[in-house]
Amino acid sequence: MSTIAGNIALVEARIRAAALAVQRDVTSVHLLAVSKTKPATALREAYASGIRDFGENYLQEARAKQVELADLPLSWHFIGPIQSNKTRDIAEHFEWVHSVDRLKIAQRLSEQRPAELAPLNICIQVNVSGEASKSGCTPADLPALAAAISALPRLKLRGLMAIPEPTEDRAEQDRAFATVRHLQESLNLGLDTLSMGMSHDLESAIAQGATWVRIGTALFGARDYGQA
Ligand SMILES: *Cc1c(COP(=O)(O)O)cnc(C)c1O
Repeated sequence: MSTIAGNIALVEARIRAAALAVQRDVTSVHLLAVSKTKPATALREAYASGIRDFGENYLQEARAKQVELADLPLSWHFIGPIQSNKTRDIAEHFEWVHSVDRLKIAQRLSEQRPAELAPLNICIQVNVSGEASKSGCTPADLPALAAAISALPRLKLRGLMAIPEPTEDRAEQDRAFATVRHLQESLNLGLDTLSMGMSHDLESAIAQGATWVRIGTALFGARDYGQA
């Protein structure tokens, strides 16, 4: 078994155990393989082990891999910070965007989503760690932003994404993810998605309701930005 295949089996076992521990149906938790900085060959290996959803943070890097892997039926998720001049390519080449945190970006994505494609699935990134994070809308701004985005014609608002500050304290980690779930519930928009949990904290995220866990390091190994 390749390292990546072995890692996928380990992560899938962690997801199953975490779901079982809180009596959740394991099929309600989806694995997003975060492949930033990794070569197309690594994604091809993951595909061979059943992975279909890939998360990328950098548009140019993602587009190069999409071209290299055009023979595979993959689903691409954009999960990084979004500049206005990147929205057209994102609207044209991804099925999901997890990192929308302001209306201007959402409006551009909606205007630029090609008519022949299904509406673009959107998660609003919310900042539940205060000053520790620059990305994400504030909990206070969330209701108005969610209402405005859910009215945009070519987008489908699915839920929230968050990257709480990492901590070794499980109870504190649980509280941060629970905050995200409570924010989603309080919107009352019938949203079905919570994108939260990474390599080090997927158990806590699943216990608090994650429906997408975004896993990089535990699948593909440490990232080397020096060579990226
Ligand atoms: C890089 C990244 C991940 C993956 O993190 P790991 O700790 O490597 O699992 C998840 N989500 C986002 C938004 C990322 O940028």
